[in-house]
Amino acid sequence: MATFHLPNLRIAPAPANVPVWNDAPWTPLPPLADSVKADVCVVGLGGSGLSAVGELLGLGVSVVGIDAGSVAGGAAGRNGGFLLAGTYHFYHDAVSRLGRERAWELYRLTMDEVDRIAAESPEAVRRTGSLRVADDDEERLDCARQLAAMRAHGLPAEAYSGPEGDGLLIPTDCAFQPLRRCRTLARRAADAGARLYEHTPALRIAGNEVRTPGGRIRCGAVLVAVDGGLEQVLPELCGRVRTARLQMLATAPTGEVCVPRPVYARWGFEYWQQLEDGRIALGGFRDGGGAGEWTVESTPGGPVQQRLEAFLRGRIGVQAPITHRWAAPVGYTPDGMPVLEEVRPRVWAAGGYSGTGNVMGALCGRAMAQWAVRGRSELADVIHGHGAESSETAASVP
Ligand SMILES: Cc1cc2nc3c(=O)[nH]c(=O)nc-3n(C[C@H](O)[C@H](O)[C@H](O)COP(=O)(O)OP(=O)(O)OC[C@H]3O[C@@H](n4cnc5c(N)ncnc54)[C@H](O)[C@@H]3O)c2cc1C
Repeated sequence: MATFHLPNLRIAPAPANVPVWNDAPWTPLPPLADSVKADVCVVGLGGSGLSAVGELLGLGVSVVGIDAGSVAGGAAGRNGGFLLAGTYHFYHDAVSRLGRERAWELYRLTMDEVDRIAAESPEAVRRTGSLRVADDDEERLDCARQLAAMRAHGLPAEAYSGPEGDGLLIPTDCAFQPLRRCRTLARRAADAGARLYEHTPALRIAGNEVRTPGGRIRCGAVLVAVDGGLEQVLPELCGRVRTARLQMLATAPTGEVCVPRPVYARWGFEYWQQLEDGRIALGGFRDGGGAGEWTVESTPGGPVQQRLEAFLRGRIGVQAPITHRWAAPVGYTPDGMPVLEEVRPRVWAAGGYSGTGNVMGALCGRAMAQWAVRGRSELADVIHGHGAESSETAASVP
């Protein structure tokens, strides 16, 4: 594989912090301007919160959803656009940490969720597969270990060697347009009766009431679906979730390379894909920014953008102009497994996906919804590896 160097690059200008995914108009939703009642209030309208909203509607309960900013204005609409099965850990590492049965069950569950997401929003999903490529011999060996473990457990994976490098190809993974998907889900939920509000931050959260600047939401349960900054919304999660900034850039359409499927390299730190119009969207180098990247701040810049640009020019071999640079916060947990629990009576939280929340977040959002309404959730049981029960059995308006 080609090595790349970090020259003294001047960072080329690009529109301020706009993700490449923001390619279509969006009619803003109003802020909440009055007090309302609902069976369940969902705080956070990213992919996880919107999956929760959809599940709640399917369960026949009334929903109010609020977001401090706009629909998918956080990581959910500003990410790499990879829909990967599995957890934060590569499959063989997941087996070592979680045991064979739980790792396999989680992998199958996330594969099914990728299929569900593709069926639910086909206009936003491409069935491309994904590539993990190695940067050195040690990682090549690790790819071989991952491949062997997946094959031994009957999971789809193939050895790969090609222009992107050597590694393994997962044929069932997908690429998607994350912002388009979230907006589709929001429109659909609103059409189905969910009351959704933008620019409505939750100021105080209790199981029967959420306070916002414009009014109170009286409810029977609250689902907090916030990834980056979760520990600020629910301070009891400090120490269990730590927020980091992830950064990306994108180029003008280019025919310099042909990247048919999303690629991740260097243990998953760098990731890129080519969009249908030929643009390259590239992220990574969180570790290249030092301690300053552990922040809820979401402005792109600094050494991370420099390294991304050097990688684009050197390693990927693309000289096309950079048209977008953006960043967003995500939550990390010490063991790489998400938070999914009832943190206060009738207040559930999901987040801390450690940079891999597109699929796991959708699952956790749906699991919270089931848990809050039915009193338990089989999805949550699989994610936790044990039974999960609520403090009460069903959501009800007080
Ligand atoms: C650059 C980047 C690349 C990534 N690439 C990938 C990838 O390719 N594949 C993958 O699986 N994952 C990836 N991730 C991670 C993934 O994007 C996230 O884990 C996932 O989108 C989280 O979605 P969410 O809905 O749980 O949370 P968020 O997107 O964090 O949404 C939470 C929402 O809650 C709102 N909110 C916050 N506080 C409040 C409050 N007090 N009141 C009301 N609303 C509030 C926010 O405004 C936000 O809209 C990436 C992340 C980034 C930043």
